[in-house]
Amino acid sequence: MSQKILLTGGAGYIGSHTYLALVSAGFTPVILDDFSNCSPAVLDRLQRLTGHPALCERGSVTDSGLVQRLLEQHRIGAVIHFAGFKAVGESVAQPLKYYANNIGGMVGLLQAMEASACRTLVFSSSATVYGDPASVPITEKFPVSHTNPYGHTKLVCEDMLAALRVAGPLWRMGVLRYFNPVGAHPSGLIGEDPAGLPNNLMPYVTQVAVGKRPYLNVYGRDYNTPDGTGVRDYIHVQDLAQGHVAAVQALLGKGESFTVNLGTGRGHSVLELVSAFERASGKTVPYQFAPRRAGDVAQCYADPSLAEDLLGWRATHSLADMCTDAWRWQQGNPEGYGQALAGDR
Ligand code: UDP
Repeated sequence: MSQKILLTGGAGYIGSHTYLALVSAGFTPVILDDFSNCSPAVLDRLQRLTGHPALCERGSVTDSGLVQRLLEQHRIGAVIHFAGFKAVGESVAQPLKYYANNIGGMVGLLQAMEASACRTLVFSSSATVYGDPASVPITEKFPVSHTNPYGHTKLVCEDMLAALRVAGPLWRMGVLRYFNPVGAHPSGLIGEDPAGLPNNLMPYVTQVAVGKRPYLNVYGRDYNTPDGTGVRDYIHVQDLAQGHVAAVQALLGKGESFTVNLGTGRGHSVLELVSAFERASGKTVPYQFAPRRAGDVAQCYADPSLAEDLLGWRATHSLADMCTDAWRWQQGNPEGYGQALAGDR
């Protein structure tokens, strides 16, 4: 029987791509999602792509009893914990929402895992834990810090996992620090579906290209970068999904805990991304320069060599691939999954 992997937040953007990558690798993923920030329509798409209905439970990761029941009922071999809020601005406005869900959810999950003796966990962390890095590329040895409640929750969760490893040597944990995930599944059936105004660059660009927004605001043109705009490490969500498979396989195999960057190791500016997108889509993306966005750093890109050393993983998709796939998804799904969310649609 194939090993079952619980994906908290498995119906979201990164979770749904990882679901497919796990199925291809021979695992049986089980989704736990409260659909607070994604649409149940994703489940139909997953079924179309795999030929099987997805195993999915609707509920919150903060419900420790529910999580424990799922772990035991399905004899889960490992958990990938995606469920978490991720909007920086919202975390500044509503910090308790972030502490309750991101930290409270992690505590409940770990208690349920401890109670059911499932102690293998992959955690979605973020390059945000590096704050404003003193230099680039960023290795895992760089100092960590936070500048907003969202980033704080990621750091606290990482610290919690470290404390648990000290307390109980049976825990096997993989902490994945994501850089900037973009793109979509090559089928065009699964992709990023932000509610309301996108916070992130790529979905904003695709919405401008499809005519939903008149122009892109480029936040800042006076950074100390080659063209003055912010530089980031954009990583194809398919590569990121594959990174989760590699992480689970390493934990279930060798069994040693690790913390690794998942990035490409290459930085691209906002204007480079816009040009690459225009080439990939054949569309013009009008933009105007706007003041810097509060909290943004000039440059952020990974040294991804530790992930290659420990997991045998590295990103293979180019910026052009990311743009092509993001555009295919946006064109085929101008309204995303097209269903009203619990939030602001
Ligand atoms: N950005 C921009 N316009 C937007 C959204 C983002 O110019 O509408 C810039 C942002 O300032 C940063 C880069 O694009 O330099 C990536 O931003 P994003 O929010 O996607 O990711 P972050 O690295 O901030 O988490």
